[in-house]
Amino acid sequence: MHEHPVKIARLFHWEMGHRLPFHDGGCANIHGHSYRMWVEVEGICDENGMLIDYGDLKKAIQPLLDPLDHAFLCAESDVTMREFLEAQRFKFVLVPFHSTAENISAYLVENIWSVLEPFSRITGVSIKLHETDNSYSLAGKSRPPA
Ligand SMILES: [Zn+2]
Repeated sequence: MHEHPVKIARLFHWEMGHRLPFHDGGCANIHGHSYRMWVEVEGICDENGMLIDYGDLKKAIQPLLDPLDHAFLCAESDVTMREFLEAQRFKFVLVPFHSTAENISAYLVENIWSVLEPFSRITGVSIKLHETDNSYSLAGKSRPPA
């Protein structure tokens, strides 16, 4: 019962503020979400039937999320927010994109893949990022064929 492709998943969560300065409606205002992210990892099990220890998965991914927790995700182009956050010395992370769910999930999957790639049994990762209970964004990345 090994050497077959499997998928396992783990749930992560953090609290984060953001805004979409280009938005016509409510999203232009400063607000936040309880982000929840399912990380699905795909690959081949070892002889014991394990792809990766859930603890190791957490150890690899959590350091990517700690800087975001109780922080403000700020687009580099959002000068109003940037100056305010810097002046007040609030916790924030600058990113070169608007903090839409689509962009955040694309950014996170790149970073998550970079920490999972060294695990040779892992062939791909996909994430499902919930901003709210009834909406999510998907992104994925897999190892190029050898
Ligand atoms: Zn929002």
